[in-house]
Amino acid sequence: MEPSRPDPIAVAQPEPGERLLSQRARSARSSVIRDLLRLVERPGVRSMAGGLPAPESFPVERMRVAVDRVLGRSVGIASPLQYGPTEGVGVLREWVAAQADPAATADQVVITTGSQQGLDLLAHALCDPGDVIVVEEPAYLGALQAFRTAGATLVPVPLVRDAGPDGDGLDVDDLAAHLAGGLRPKACYVAPNFQNPTGATMSAARRVRLGALADQYGFVVIEDDPYRDLRFAGDPQPSIHRSSELVVSLGSGSKVLAPGLRVGWMVAPAWLVPAVVRLKQARDLHTSSLSQWVAHDVLADDAFIAQHRLTLAELYGSRCAALVDALGRHLGDRIEFAAPDGGMFVWGSIAGVDTTALLPIAVEEGVAFVPGGAFYVEDDAPDGRDRVRLSFATLLPAELDDAVARLARAVARTAQPVH
Ligand code: PMP
Repeated sequence: MEPSRPDPIAVAQPEPGERLLSQRARSARSSVIRDLLRLVERPGVRSMAGGLPAPESFPVERMRVAVDRVLGRSVGIASPLQYGPTEGVGVLREWVAAQADPAATADQVVITTGSQQGLDLLAHALCDPGDVIVVEEPAYLGALQAFRTAGATLVPVPLVRDAGPDGDGLDVDDLAAHLAGGLRPKACYVAPNFQNPTGATMSAARRVRLGALADQYGFVVIEDDPYRDLRFAGDPQPSIHRSSELVVSLGSGSKVLAPGLRVGWMVAPAWLVPAVVRLKQARDLHTSSLSQWVAHDVLADDAFIAQHRLTLAELYGSRCAALVDALGRHLGDRIEFAAPDGGMFVWGSIAGVDTTALLPIAVEEGVAFVPGGAFYVEDDAPDGRDRVRLSFATLLPAELDDAVARLARAVARTAQPVH
């Protein structure tokens, strides 16, 4: 007989020791959706849930060369095996500064342990408990978590998909109305390129307007941009930093190299850097020296990186096309979505279906996705109820087709109306 498995969505009973937890740790609560997501790790499930980069895209051979090279150079104080400066390895900071739009100086750059750490550091550097961060909604779940853990109050502003002249992105009119009404945020968070979860790219007009509002009202724009290099259609848009000095841009090696390196970066105004560095020192002293040296060796190899970016664009572009095609064939007009110009995600709306209730049925059919509600500030936000985030990054085109066929079977089994 099979040993019985614990029910993955059963709610855990509190342990007696939990009273010792800080308020901060206790309020980093689990959500229904996060509990549900444990289901998606079941064997045999084709997962379009996680935003895991395609493992085939990792530049393994080039990284092997890089490891050999940087270890061969392991002498003196700049050794990749030695402790290093909290701000990060000098040559990598210089590379980041030169890539920034507009170019920055190396002393504006902090190397972080993934861009996730950048979100955490910024929230703690800017916010006392109760201070406001405006977030685009829906938004990257990890950003919401980082800001909440810092005690920030989150004020959502809708991200709109607009076929008109204003284009996609943060509803800057809505933000302007909040500000005119007296809201005084410390920061506003946006992911302008191929946003997680919607895949939307913020139009140039909205970027300029957001920069102007930051200057007028005095708040920081957190420009979270880990997907910039994964563009397979359309034209690159200028960084929001072109429109205001009050912008912090976060970048990452996770999608262009590999997330396991945990190398990200922040380009920040000079007044903010020392505060961020002090907080980072207390957290991890510095990001892995070996990872930074390896990342620099590969990223600064212009010819390799140019070719690698093309390879990534082709790989993700063809997977996105396969997903879009499969959605049309298997779900037809049951799903509404806009195809993205890059990144990893398609955001869809399945009219009349509560996607949180759909997930366990989908898992029974052998497919997983993230229900839209996960990306909203309030649990069970009505706007998220019929939404799904589908990642095309990890599955091969034929697997994506099969995954969508399974999803269509699950949708056919549920006639649950959205209340
Ligand atoms: N920002 C966004 C929008 C993301 O989707 C992610 C992770 N997928 C991150 C930040 C964090 O990435 P990392 O820490 O690996 O750089």
